[in-house]
Amino acid sequence: MTARSVQVAIIGGGVMAAWTAFHLARRGVKALIVERSFAGSQASGVNYGSMRVQGRYLPQLPLSLRAQAIWEESEKLLGVDVEFRRMGHIHVAVDAAQMDKIERYAVDAAAYGLHPEIVGRDALRRRWPWVAQHAVGLSWSALDGAVNPRLVVPALAAALRDMDVTILQGRRVVAAEKDGRGFALATEEGEEIRCELLLNMAGAWAGEVSAWFGEPVPLFVAGPSEMVTEPLPYFMEPTLQIVDGSIVVRQVERGNVIVAGHPRGPADAVAMRARMPGGKTLTNLQRVADIIPCLSGASIIRTWSGIEGYMPDMIPVIGPSATTSGLWHAFAFSGHGMQLAPALGAVMSEFVLDGRSATPLDAFSIARFREKAAVDEEYLKQEFDAGIVKV
Ligand SMILES: Cc1cc2nc3c(=O)[nH]c(=O)nc-3n(C[C@H](O)[C@H](O)[C@H](O)COP(=O)(O)OP(=O)(O)OC[C@H]3O[C@@H](n4cnc5c(N)ncnc54)[C@H](O)[C@@H]3O)c2cc1C
Repeated sequence: MTARSVQVAIIGGGVMAAWTAFHLARRGVKALIVERSFAGSQASGVNYGSMRVQGRYLPQLPLSLRAQAIWEESEKLLGVDVEFRRMGHIHVAVDAAQMDKIERYAVDAAAYGLHPEIVGRDALRRRWPWVAQHAVGLSWSALDGAVNPRLVVPALAAALRDMDVTILQGRRVVAAEKDGRGFALATEEGEEIRCELLLNMAGAWAGEVSAWFGEPVPLFVAGPSEMVTEPLPYFMEPTLQIVDGSIVVRQVERGNVIVAGHPRGPADAVAMRARMPGGKTLTNLQRVADIIPCLSGASIIRTWSGIEGYMPDMIPVIGPSATTSGLWHAFAFSGHGMQLAPALGAVMSEFVLDGRSATPLDAFSIARFREKAAVDEEYLKQEFDAGIVKV
């Protein structure tokens, strides 16, 4: 079989790869995406869809704010409404410590150009009367929103097809090595691919790829717990999240209320399955009723999960390889990558084409794991209430 030869190859066909290939194609470079299954079939297609900016790790705000501006333009860019809605996000405090946390965050975030509004108990009652009486205050970010994840990668894939970009689906990359000035990739299906630049965007499986280049990372996998109610009369506009992250609730225009609840559940990266543990349905439903009393008695019609890659510090790996020139990583988005994806793609395209980007990425370097490449089992025990399968 003859080898395909491309300038840029991307391992993984999730939202990171799709937005990166989109930005590259707009500047004339047709990357080759290699996806072992269907594009967008993993985390990118099954996530909660929260486009939350507030509350993010502060050095991530430049990327996050840039991403939100691109989501705002997504319908124009993609020619499809992916149901991005800027309906805001409230971070609700239920005690003084949580209130203090959001007040401090609002001050710190201002330095990055994000200005959440702190709302006290009385104003909260007036503006969001459906929030439970025991809430002591909240932080309101008007620019946050949500998207329908099921629509995003298919919309990008259609746009890529129109730009003559190839997504090789059903091809699993099983080996990659530096070959002269470029790279040689082999797929399980017997395909050979040569490229000048290689982007590792293999999501929860990206640690396998980085290890091929002498860069093992302490990546672990888990499955965020999601569930959705029957359609109910529309009443809540912003997404509500308790400051400790224990529950996140949003209502779509069709009326269904979508709920994400922590902690995360187990995921099996080998079998490629993740499920929401049964008992969590009741726990999460009770939490919802506690903070939004009018939702007590709502019926859950579906629960689900997905496989996400996490780093122990809960921030992704983004940037050049520390061992191999021409190799770039962007993976382990630790439960919050969907929102970042359009800007991640823009930044990666800038690095590939210009060698630099104005959006800072230093905090995300893979080099931070040089000293600590193994998964910390103690940490995992504390983090999870259910079993974990490592990649
Ligand atoms: C249930 C859930 C809820 C979430 N909620 C939110 C949210 O509300 N907001 C938010 O911002 N983020 C959220 N996230 C996180 C977000 O979905 C992810 O961070 C993001 O989708 C990661 O995109 P990706 O392209 O890196 O990974 P993926 O979508 O996992 O794509 C990686 C792809 O690589 C492919 N692949 C792996 N290895 C190989 C190989 N060797 N060869 C070829 N292909 C390979 C896989 O098949 C996969 O399709 C959530 C995630 C989950 C699972």
